[in-house]
Amino acid sequence: MTDHKVPETEADLSGAAPPHTIARRHAKPDIREIGGRRLKPATLMMGHGYDPALSEGSLKPPIFLTSTFVFESAAAGKRHFEGVTGKRPGGAEGLVYSRFNGPDQEILEDRLAVWEAAEEALSFSSGMSAIATLLLALVQPGDVIVHSAPLYAATETLIARVLGRFGVQWLDFPAGADAARIAEVLDRAKAQGRVALVYLESPANPTNQLVDIQAVAAARDRLFADGDAKPPIVIDNTFLGPLWQQPLRHGADMVVYSLTKYAGGHSDLVAGGVTGAKAAIDPIRAMRNTIGTILDPHSSWMLLRSLETLELRMTRAGENAAKVCAWLRDHPKVERVGYLGFLQEGSRQADIHRRHCSGAGSTFSLYLKGGEAEAFRFLDALKVAKLAVSLGGTETLASHPAGMTHLSVAPPRKRELDIGDNLVRISIGVEDADDLLADFEQALEAV
Ligand SMILES: *Cc1c(COP(=O)(O)O)cnc(C)c1O
Repeated sequence: MTDHKVPETEADLSGAAPPHTIARRHAKPDIREIGGRRLKPATLMMGHGYDPALSEGSLKPPIFLTSTFVFESAAAGKRHFEGVTGKRPGGAEGLVYSRFNGPDQEILEDRLAVWEAAEEALSFSSGMSAIATLLLALVQPGDVIVHSAPLYAATETLIARVLGRFGVQWLDFPAGADAARIAEVLDRAKAQGRVALVYLESPANPTNQLVDIQAVAAARDRLFADGDAKPPIVIDNTFLGPLWQQPLRHGADMVVYSLTKYAGGHSDLVAGGVTGAKAAIDPIRAMRNTIGTILDPHSSWMLLRSLETLELRMTRAGENAAKVCAWLRDHPKVERVGYLGFLQEGSRQADIHRRHCSGAGSTFSLYLKGGEAEAFRFLDALKVAKLAVSLGGTETLASHPAGMTHLSVAPPRKRELDIGDNLVRISIGVEDADDLLADFEQALEAV
């Protein structure tokens, strides 16, 4: 760590903890390879960043329910604050106050970073608080945000309506846009004002359109000089990450997550995350310290539990989805299935998928023959799958975007996004695949 640049907002902070203080103090030299073999994330999830000897031998990290941390001495407290305020480069060496960080959050952040080989990760109280904190840290009045479309509805609201009140402008391009279209929109944004960031979401919900991250990075690098003028590329990787898509490898600077979904994976918590290089993450951490959007210790602990089975759960859900989609596709009452495993050979979307993704996910769009009545009969007849929004949990969920998550979307936009009344959105879980088929078969009979 050479350049400990303190963001402007940090001057009026009462304190801010640096990353990994506990990891540094609480972990034995981390075992990350054996005999030249680099250990895989699935292995590291059981121990990385935590030393049981420092917590009474407890196999699992305790939940540290404390609002503040006792300094070893007055001099140590001063030293921490010198690091916190940027008076001394290198950051604080210890924990200060739980709005800034805590042991459970730090272990979680270390393990989250492992999946994408990211330098740093931050935890947040929700996916939306991660996104809001990131935007607040990066955006100034008069700036332009360029984003792919569509975005998660609350993200669109945040950019257009909330930041719009502070004079922030935005320009978008369709998620599936080609390199020329992406460059054209970036160029137009540049003429309009300072481009604060390029914000992507891939695959887009509910269209499942993939964004060409490499094309976005190439256009950004061509159009903007290095340094402050270069807008970071941020991507919401909730639907495929961190297992099936790792955007930092393809040119993204930061990745945001609703950890509520696949990472949490049990539909029992709400959380968010951001990963990336230290230089990119530092201002986001400073903003989080200021406004207090860090995740609580209990949910952090639950996420540690979840990450131990992340690969198992996502792999099983992905295999289940492949079976279910193959079966649904040929059913006479099904119009079509929008699933990343069915991309047309030789198409641009298939090319992006081949370059960026290692799986097709387990969330897809089922278009039934008919309209709302047929969709509702199907949803009401399901017995194993539950009728609920959200995704990425152990259990299969089904919902009706036109009548639920996208109810307030204007009709022309709904048509553009292919959100028909016959669309059912399904997130496949880890149940027995044949039981799921039996459930879908009887529900389709009721249509
Ligand atoms: C759920 C979700 C969010 C918001 O996350 P919360 O944890 O509900 O705040 C953001 N982006 C995507 C793609 C999501 O699915």
